[in-house]
Amino acid sequence: MSTHLLEQSGSRPNEKKMTADPFEIAVFHGDGIGPEIMAPTLRIMREIAGSAKSYDLLLLDLPAGARHYAETGTSLPEVSLKRARNADAILLSAMGLPDIRYSDGTEISPQIELRMELDLFAGVRPVRIRSGQVSPLKLPKYKSVDFVLIRESTEGLFYSIGSGDEREAEARETLRITRETSEKLFRFAFDLATQRKETGDGPGRVTCVDKANVFRAFAFFRKIFDEEASAWPGLLTDHAYVDAMALWLVQRPWDFDVMVTENMFGDILSDLGAGLMGGLGLAPSADIGEKHAVFQPCHGSAPDIAGLGIANPLAMILSAAMMLEWLGSQHDVEEMRHDGRRLRDADDADLSDRSCLTRDLGGGASTEEVAGAVLKSLFVE
Ligand code: NAD
Repeated sequence: MSTHLLEQSGSRPNEKKMTADPFEIAVFHGDGIGPEIMAPTLRIMREIAGSAKSYDLLLLDLPAGARHYAETGTSLPEVSLKRARNADAILLSAMGLPDIRYSDGTEISPQIELRMELDLFAGVRPVRIRSGQVSPLKLPKYKSVDFVLIRESTEGLFYSIGSGDEREAEARETLRITRETSEKLFRFAFDLATQRKETGDGPGRVTCVDKANVFRAFAFFRKIFDEEASAWPGLLTDHAYVDAMALWLVQRPWDFDVMVTENMFGDILSDLGAGLMGGLGLAPSADIGEKHAVFQPCHGSAPDIAGLGIANPLAMILSAAMMLEWLGSQHDVEEMRHDGRRLRDADDADLSDRSCLTRDLGGGASTEEVAGAVLKSLFVE
């Protein structure tokens, strides 16, 4: 990774006639395995954009992260934040290193700062298991899993970060649910379920996951969900308590379509979802707000395997696929939407034929070999 402030690279030269400016993508290479999984992902992005007729990408490398903090004393430089804010989308690799910390002992986490700075309230965590894919689940024949968990990402129990109260005999944290954010969140969930219904990815069902039987804040959350749901008559809506949902996600995950929940519940259930798929190396994510969006793998910088060239790049590549689909939808560029889905399907193909898997999935392939197999399914097969 370059540590220069800005390094710009467009897609490969081609003959296409551009009708609009290229989409600017702010790229953060991250720490640990971050740069190792970002490099092949950017290569795939350049290939896809290079062959596209109706859009192009401008990739802007921006510094941030734990290593950058160790070198400069700044974790997320002002200029990086500004460029990210002005970009059309942000592609971010895993950040943070356990040995590099602020003086108060907490870790460097620009990815969390970005969530708050850019008001990215909807954490989107897709979980897909195709037949033939390695998974701890024994899927019944003809069943596949395809659901999306939406985790509210700016309030809930995480609202309390940095302001918890600790006394001699007790400690307290405050959970906060606001009407404004909840309404935006539920509208986002209903819109996503509608899109999934239109593309045949889901039946058009949204489940509100809460603990409304015990906590007033969750009864409030559920009430707002029901109010918003009445404006979406084409969708099925229901509720589940979070403890029951943890059980059902193991027993019958194929029954769910879109789930929407509070920050802490979403944090926990999304790792459960990653576990169902076979591990964090397969779990992509997007943090989306009204104006900005960050796409990043769910996993961390995996310092235990950094530098070995064996990190699974699929969560990063799938995050980039989500970015293309999101940009295509936002700007109504059908080819871009289609390319995002093509890239996602190429990853699925790689997982289903099991011939090229990294060590975390029981294989012996390198990061580069897996990324190469995805490129091959995209352009050769
Ligand atoms: P981690 O996700 O980095 O690693 C957990 C385990 O999963 C490790 O055994 C690791 O080798 C494995 N793993 C993770 N990603 C993998 C991949 N792509 N391919 C193969 N194996 C993979 O979690 P951790 O060890 O708790 O955290 C390490 C650092 O990452 C910490 O500094 C933490 O703060 C940071 N972190 C960052 C993010 C983020 O950037 N969004 C998320 C979580 C943790």
